[in-house]
Amino acid sequence: MSSWSKAKSRPDAAAAQAAGHEPKPMLDVIRAKCLDCQAGSPGAVRKCVTQDCALWPYRMASNPFRTRAVPAAQRAALSARLKGQKT
Ligand code: SF4
Repeated sequence: MSSWSKAKSRPDAAAAQAAGHEPKPMLDVIRAKCLDCQAGSPGAVRKCVTQDCALWPYRMASNPFRTRAVPAAQRAALSARLKGQKT
């Protein structure tokens, strides 16, 4: 019998591992669910048009809402590299 019960609706790590789950980054979990939803087809996940699904923005294992602050010097170096110049 599992250590998880109806009385304990939020499983702890031990209960999750007892059920066969391992710790994973949440974006990987979402990606796995999307692949499951689309019968294992990465192309079908990419082309998914169900935009009202809560997972849709994250289906490619990235968070489109996360922004990364890039220091000015690093931004200039990246820009120069894209232009094929040396800094
Ligand atoms: S975003 Fe698309 S592929 Fe992912 S779970 Fe929702 S419907 Fe399925």
